[in-house]
Amino acid sequence: LSDKFESALRKVSGKGKISEGNIAEAMEDVREALLEADVDYEIAEAFVGRVSQEAVGTEVLESVDPGQQIIQIVHEELVRLLGGEEAVKDDDPTGGLQAGGPADAIPRVSPGPTVVMVAGLQGSGKTTTCGKLAAALKKQGRSVTLGAADLQRPAAVTQLRVLSEQVGSDACPGTGEVFFHGEPDACAAYGEAVGVAVEVAKRALAAARAHKADVLILDTAGRLHLNDELMKELKRVERAVGPHQVLLVLDAMTGQDAVNSAEAFDKQLEIDGVVLTKFDSDTRGGAALSVREVTGKPIRFVGTGETLDALEGFHPRRIAGRILGMGDVVSLVEKAQAEVSEEEATRLQDKLAAGEMTMEDFLKQLKALRRMGSMKSLLGMLPGVGSQLKNLDLDEGRIDRTEAIINSMSTTERRKVKILDNSRRRRIAKGCGQEPADVSQLVKGFEMVSQMGQLMGGGGTGMMGKMKAL
Ligand code: GDP
Ligand code: MG
Repeated sequence: LSDKFESALRKVSGKGKISEGNIAEAMEDVREALLEADVDYEIAEAFVGRVSQEAVGTEVLESVDPGQQIIQIVHEELVRLLGGEEAVKDDDPTGGLQAGGPADAIPRVSPGPTVVMVAGLQGSGKTTTCGKLAAALKKQGRSVTLGAADLQRPAAVTQLRVLSEQVGSDACPGTGEVFFHGEPDACAAYGEAVGVAVEVAKRALAAARAHKADVLILDTAGRLHLNDELMKELKRVERAVGPHQVLLVLDAMTGQDAVNSAEAFDKQLEIDGVVLTKFDSDTRGGAALSVREVTGKPIRFVGTGETLDALEGFHPRRIAGRILGMGDVVSLVEKAQAEVSEEEATRLQDKLAAGEMTMEDFLKQLKALRRMGSMKSLLGMLPGVGSQLKNLDLDEGRIDRTEAIINSMSTTERRKVKILDNSRRRRIAKGCGQEPADVSQLVKGFEMVSQMGQLMGGGGTGMMGKMKAL
């Protein structure tokens, strides 16, 4: 999708002023890109129409930088479509999504528990999302009861139990608690019987109250396709527990199907928000756009992987930026921050300033870089870099080679590069299958950085010190 947008925008930028003619040309590509991304036809049409109208305005025509202008217009319109101001408000530190992560979108009610019902088609990611939500809530120190009211698939109960154990054991020791409530034996015994799920739901609610849990998350059954039986069961469960939040889970990869089921679920249940899963796939843009437009319900969370921590709040601005290929600097920064904690960064700065940085510290940084994901995907988040990268053979191997060299050093050598004479350099080179010159190059670079760090450091009064004080 972003490729298309970039090419469309390139057509408009660099041509001096925007004319109706080149807007039309650019918008043709935008429309095509939206359709390719599985955006509903009418929604794509409406989008293109709106943006064209705005872009042909005189201000744009008279602008000094028409390319920037139209990027801004397309971007703003996308943001609006994705949830606009309402969702942007969620970025507000006073209780929005960003305050304490995605879990903040789950309200706190008194008396508890806050009941969250999770619904959606089979395979959309409901059970996984229940686990992710529980983990996020637990990190906030909220205790959670998980209720396994999916009795269609015998494995579903076990799956939720396993997830609850994962959340309980390694999410964040010391805060929160996760209780599990399911009826594993009931699945086999009652099979498809509709009343059973309601019983499990009621029992889970009673158990959550007994445990004084802050939140009850109720997993429910799905079907491969929408049908009346499913809706009836979900409605009964809804009536039985009176959820504060009904979250509809949609698989972003299914594109138009996700939109259709969103519409159907929305008619039958009181949906409060949407969770778009499998957003780590390519088709993410289209589903987000259409679902939002068709249901009018906010997208609350985005699932970005199979692990328990792969749940994010929904940020229209960010997603719009990503779709446009404008880059996603915000999430780049966040990702980097998460990997290298501030504390560690400060510690490293101190070391660098004191001339105490070692190859070991350097290796740690390299590993952090690698954990952040492939270099390409990282750089792809930077504005303007996206499409160029595909033609550029980025030397990811260089990190590998550098890591290999450091790995071949002894601990003493890593801590004291000064002792690296020629014979040591030769030995190290041999150990990692590289040339002594490569080792020398690394050492030289490392020494340069160290020296610069010391020069700038100067015991807190230097540049580094000042930067820290900011
Ligand atoms: P349910 O039938 O709706 O309960 O769906 P599950 O929670 O069992 O998920 C179905 C499959 O999708 C599982 O293999 C999950 O690991 C996977 N899945 C769920 N959420 C995500 C996500 O955000 N990204 C990816 N890549 N896979 C996901
Ligand atoms: Mg399930």
